[in-house]
Amino acid sequence: AEVAARIAGLLATAPLAERVRNGALVVLAGPPNVGKSSLFNALLGRERAIVTEIPGTTRDAIEAAADFLGWPVRLVDTAGLGESTGRLDALGQRMSRQYQESADLILECHDRDPATGRDAPRVLPVRTKSDLGPAGNGELRVSAVTGEGLEALRRAVVERLFAGGVALADLDPAVTRERHRVALQRAAQALDQAKAHLKVAGDPVLAAHHVQGAVGALDALVGAVDVEEVLDRLFATFCVGK
Ligand code: GDP
Repeated sequence: AEVAARIAGLLATAPLAERVRNGALVVLAGPPNVGKSSLFNALLGRERAIVTEIPGTTRDAIEAAADFLGWPVRLVDTAGLGESTGRLDALGQRMSRQYQESADLILECHDRDPATGRDAPRVLPVRTKSDLGPAGNGELRVSAVTGEGLEALRRAVVERLFAGGVALADLDPAVTRERHRVALQRAAQALDQAKAHLKVAGDPVLAAHHVQGAVGALDALVGAVDVEEVLDRLFATFCVGK
């Protein structure tokens, strides 16, 4: 039970720690022509996406690595979801939806109407082109032209995605690799199965088998030699078990 609790504690660090290692996926979404590509470029600090006044200019999804207050972000500009007028638009919009599904955070851009009302934990409404319109009602307002609100937006993104990240870095070890997380999950599962067999009605041999499975998973994690290998060496050297 003690080991299972420590494994659970380590596993709890995985979502945030993997995000720190791989970069958080932040996707710009919203109707065509609201200024997504302009905001993408402004946040990156360089002209990466093509900007025009023609709706539907961005048909592909463009991804670029950015750094928000020192935190790693994978910023994605996507095709706006709206009327699709052709095969290319349809493909771009499908890719857009896929990105939105796997996003850690969606920046829901709009330049006029109030936010679409999508108020999920993964959605941050952003009012674009703030240099053109009247003041909004407390929502995040940005202008790619004047630069207004960009720093506040970066800060808001970091708060949403990396809250607790500083504490994480200072205290316990954290699980930053998928391979490590998978090994810990296997160990946790094996210990769970062992526990069932440690009850009165359980089978001690099966309990031992599952505990050994957990040890194997943890050995793989720390790079130790596997049990079979140790046994092979023992038998070869000492003729044990004859
Ligand atoms: P997207 O289709 O959502 O990616 O929008 P774009 O970034 O291509 O921009 C659409 C149009 O809005 C272009 O003509 C831009 O010059 C203009 N635009 C974008 N951002 C701003 C902004 O912050 N202020 C103003 N005044 N115009 C902007």
